[in-house]
Amino acid sequence: MASTFRPKTRSTIHEFDLIHALHKQHSRRTPSVIRGIGDDAAVITSQAGQWTVLTTDLLTEGVHFDLRTATMADIGFRAAAANLSDVAAMGGTPQYLLAALAIPRTGSSRQVEQLYRGMMAACRPHHVRLIGGDTSASSGGWFLSLTLIGMVLPHKALFRSGARIGDYLYVTGTIGDALAGLKLLNEPPARAKHHPRTATLSAKRRQFLIARHLRPTARIAEGQWLSTHRFATSAIDISDGLSGDLRHICEESHVGVDLDLGALPVSPACRAYAASRKLDPVSLALTGGEDYELLFTVSPRQRPRLERTALTRGFSLTCIGEIRPPHFGIQALSPHGRRHRLANTSYEHFT
Ligand code: ADP
Ligand code: MG
Repeated sequence: MASTFRPKTRSTIHEFDLIHALHKQHSRRTPSVIRGIGDDAAVITSQAGQWTVLTTDLLTEGVHFDLRTATMADIGFRAAAANLSDVAAMGGTPQYLLAALAIPRTGSSRQVEQLYRGMMAACRPHHVRLIGGDTSASSGGWFLSLTLIGMVLPHKALFRSGARIGDYLYVTGTIGDALAGLKLLNEPPARAKHHPRTATLSAKRRQFLIARHLRPTARIAEGQWLSTHRFATSAIDISDGLSGDLRHICEESHVGVDLDLGALPVSPACRAYAASRKLDPVSLALTGGEDYELLFTVSPRQRPRLERTALTRGFSLTCIGEIRPPHFGIQALSPHGRRHRLANTSYEHFT
């Protein structure tokens, strides 16, 4: 789109050169893409009878990322992973990516290059093709909006609304890591250096936690597995924190839940971090968003088969609660055996 807004200081980037470079580097010929980058719009074929999954995410500098603690490649990677994770939570297969970008005056073509490098690194394992986007100048910071298109087998899509009373609640992987990683990145250098207990957090654990924040893994294979075998009755990805994302399943499915806080899967690195900073690992696991793990429900009948095949596939799953009638609300059993209503401690933009 032509821009009516011209920044006072022109950036050194030329839009057409940039698009040309992106086209050369990231467009791959593939039979299902009739037209990719380079025309007015992209054209793709669609398989008859398949359902299409669409998701879009907007990332704003200063709100979603900070160039002091993340590289452009990290930002691109994380943005793509967030979109991939949304498709994973639907049980879908991601296929095509559109990227809209607003570049600040100070932005360089090298930074754009790095951004796309990170984005495509997250997409490559899933064979996702970049098929278009849009480019603009920004009078403020960077803006990045990604749109991901994918497909799911008809009637196999996973929704937030399918949880039934008596179902078991599961989560993939470990939770709280990304928040611990973010907190580590935001620690003032002096504090990190002279922190009395820094020694208890090894460099390896520190790197693991930071990578979980900067380079999260979208659980695509797990989502497809849950959908094709009809294991999950409902699913969501954890992008805002367990306490809030669990609430979405309960609201959409009109159910309550009994959450077992002692069962939450917290990694050894996250536990070590919590101990070294005198934080509660359970509260990191409840509050931390952006782990991009899948939270899902399974009927008691399916449970043995789910657990058996998860082992053979090498998927890490943990049962963390049970679905209850709506009047039960959202309750949590603490590791000390006390039951209480669960507060929503998730991230919210407008509060
Ligand atoms: P239009 O003015 O019709 O929107 P553009 O010049 O913006 O056309 O875009 C030309 C082509 O380049 C289109 O195929 C578009 O999808 C692609 N494109 C533009 N910006 C980007 C970007 N940031 N990333 C990927 N593809 C882009
Ligand atoms: Mg355009």
